[in-house]
Amino acid sequence: MNEHMLDSVIKLFSKKRNIILIPHSSPDADALGSCLALYHFFKSKNEVNIISPNEYTDILNFLPGSKDILIYENDKVKCEDAFKKADVVFTLDFNSLNRARNLSSLISSSTTKTIMIDHHENPDNYADITISNSKMSSTCEMVYDFICSIDKSKIDNKIATCIYTGIVADTGSFRFPSTTSKTLKVGSELINYGVNVTEIFEKLHNNFQFKRLKLLGSAINNFKKIEGLPVVYTSITDKDQKVNDFKKGDSEGFVNFGLSVAEILCSVLFIEKKDEGLIKISFRSKGDFKVNIFASKYFKGGGHKHASGGISKLSLKETEEKFVSDITQYINQNYE
Ligand code: 5GP
Ligand code: MN
Repeated sequence: MNEHMLDSVIKLFSKKRNIILIPHSSPDADALGSCLALYHFFKSKNEVNIISPNEYTDILNFLPGSKDILIYENDKVKCEDAFKKADVVFTLDFNSLNRARNLSSLISSSTTKTIMIDHHENPDNYADITISNSKMSSTCEMVYDFICSIDKSKIDNKIATCIYTGIVADTGSFRFPSTTSKTLKVGSELINYGVNVTEIFEKLHNNFQFKRLKLLGSAINNFKKIEGLPVVYTSITDKDQKVNDFKKGDSEGFVNFGLSVAEILCSVLFIEKKDEGLIKISFRSKGDFKVNIFASKYFKGGGHKHASGGISKLSLKETEEKFVSDITQYINQNYE
């Protein structure tokens, strides 16, 4: 945040405000951690609501304050009422309004001050204050900086736990290239507020149902390698989901297994979403392989260089065939 922005932010919060915090749809730990950290930070002196476009994985229910999150999809009237009273809206962990799905039009038509805090490349220009830095490991790391520049003394165990969870989730526990010495320093400072590092790891990674292990088995078994290319892909069909009682968040991390193979630079997961009539795609990569450019060019998506998402309206089989042809073309044009 530059000095001019900081001045406007400090002025904005010099009196009691009615604040709404919005994560992207199907929010992950970074998006919810950012919302909840700001929720705890602001709530002593302001009216604050978190509105998620839709449900999130119950794995994240351990985050302090999560029971107060409103879900727009389930509680439209209450959420729209909260919007009418709001004077400040934060959008967290997304760079384009369409990632707030059903909430996008409420955000764009509202006359409130909008503040974006986000770490994705090429942010859209919808906010009054855009705090964007694609070099940051996570939105949570940015929220930590934001809070420190306003009033660091307010950080407590709850705020620290929310921020730490988002940082470890988005950096793969301080492993991904986005991890800087400053990210580790922030992690270290958060631990001084009593964050329980082991418990957070257990809640995030070792807290699933037995059937989720079986689903992982089938996803791993379905992996295919594209001959002659450093690419593997797998899929989870609607049937796999029904057989294994699929719940939101169950497939989180599956795609990364593809990158455990020597020489593989890109791994892709296709998930059949019968109820939405589409295939949700997760892309992961290493080194110079930029999946965000591929995702936006071929699958209406985007994200980070090494972690992106997209969608396809074709059948699963047609999507896989299109993918094999598109990625072959993309690699031939950009990497050979
Ligand atoms: P995931 O594979 O975990 O769903 O998504 C990985 C990353 O890709 C997310 O953190 C987000 O930055 C981005 N992403 C996922 N889905 C979409 C999408 O539909 N559109 C865009 N633009 N980005 C997405
Ligand atoms: Mn993030």
